[in-house]
Amino acid sequence: MTVVRFDRERLPEPCGYFEREGLRLVGHGRWRSAVCPFHDDTFPSLRINTENGAFRCMTCGVKGGDVLAYHRARHGLSFAQAAHDLGALR
Ligand SMILES: [Zn+2]
Repeated sequence: MTVVRFDRERLPEPCGYFEREGLRLVGHGRWRSAVCPFHDDTFPSLRINTENGAFRCMTCGVKGGDVLAYHRARHGLSFAQAAHDLGALR
């Protein structure tokens, strides 16, 4: 019997993940900005934490605590589907 477990350690590194998702991170330091894909954004109002993948949009209010939460929200996936997509199951 195979038990599939979520392994947080396997989540992708936030900067690389968000860039592969098409976001251009601007700024320096832990928190960067990007044009928000969750609303019709022209000014980079999505704030992204490059250390843990947390994100928060100052305009539309979308937020989450890690790249898994972002992947779920962006692609409309369940926890298990998103974890599988990101290679975070073992
Ligand atoms: Zn937004």
